[in-house]
Amino acid sequence: MNRPIYVTRPYLPPLEELIPSLQQIWDNKVLTNGGPFHQQLETALCSYLGVTHVSLFTNATIALVTALQALRVTGEVITTPYSFVATSHSLLWNGIRPVFVDIDPDTLNLNPDLIESAITPHTTAIMPVHCYGHPCDTGAIQRIADNYNLKVIYDAAHAFGVEDDEGSILRHGDLSILSFHATKVFNTFEGGAIVCPDARSKTRIDQLKNFGYVDEVTVVAPGINGKMSEFNAALGLHQLNYVGRAIEERRVIDRAYRERLHRIRGIRCLDTTGERVPNYSYFPILVEADYPVSRDDLYSGLKALNIHPRRYFYPLISNFPMYKSLSSAHPNNLPVANSAAQKVLCLPIFPGLEMSVLEEITDFIATR
Ligand SMILES: *Cc1c(COP(=O)(O)O)cnc(C)c1O
Repeated sequence: MNRPIYVTRPYLPPLEELIPSLQQIWDNKVLTNGGPFHQQLETALCSYLGVTHVSLFTNATIALVTALQALRVTGEVITTPYSFVATSHSLLWNGIRPVFVDIDPDTLNLNPDLIESAITPHTTAIMPVHCYGHPCDTGAIQRIADNYNLKVIYDAAHAFGVEDDEGSILRHGDLSILSFHATKVFNTFEGGAIVCPDARSKTRIDQLKNFGYVDEVTVVAPGINGKMSEFNAALGLHQLNYVGRAIEERRVIDRAYRERLHRIRGIRCLDTTGERVPNYSYFPILVEADYPVSRDDLYSGLKALNIHPRRYFYPLISNFPMYKSLSSAHPNNLPVANSAAQKVLCLPIFPGLEMSVLEEITDFIATR
């Protein structure tokens, strides 16, 4: 297989299939501002994901920033340090102070048992992440939110199509945010969405992503430009026809990794027990102390073969310069997250990854 091999590789529909849609855009000359493809993709995503309201965005980061605006979140927000930096950046862009709470060692998601002691009179919301697409303890988080009257905004960037026993995990909390970036399970090159529980919140979010416009002459809020273009929406509609197959291919790779890695001493794979329908978006392993070499040595060894796993999430958000002076960012407050960041390695997983390459990776890991 052609090298280099990266941790992921985007999945694309055959170009011929896209041409008629592009022709339609060229004919209509409707390029953005909620055109026909934008509307079709919102409807198609609602039905694919099993949710009632979706608002498309230019990317997930702007969607996170807008979600916080929509719910008028201020003050302090409890969040996880174990995520992509956009999660916390969306708080800083709203002038909100992130309060980091440690993660659960089994799921690597926000540990609900530690949330209450981080709540102060300034806390207005919780922003958990369904890390690697594994569901958070949504029941426990909602109970705390209800008790303290807090909003819950899920960063569901990894969780496209994931379901728990009762359906889509995107129905939990006040809002959930998806990313359709090129590296994610479902992509529109760049893109994202907010999953909203009702028509009222979708209307407000639709206004906020269009500068706050309600009609030609009425602006009701200092909105932003977060709209998805017709090109990205048309692409998304075609992608949607293939995402089921792509996830199935990921499932086969996930199973092959697990079979080949589970007996290697010092290598731990994360469980997928919280979800009835997983999406296999990542394949993280934890390189424990009883493995013969360090995580970073294993990482460099694979890179020398021109195979590029990723240390998601290292460094932790709480250790970046704009966060590390927060009192909640101190490593003593976040021992599990700091330890996970030292151990984790996300192995390549994407449709089309050849079994021979997977075997090369697992053989390499088995023979250090
Ligand atoms: C990818 C990602 C984002 C940002 O998504 P964009 O669409 O690239 O803005 C946010 N949060 C998490 C957890 C992510 O993995």
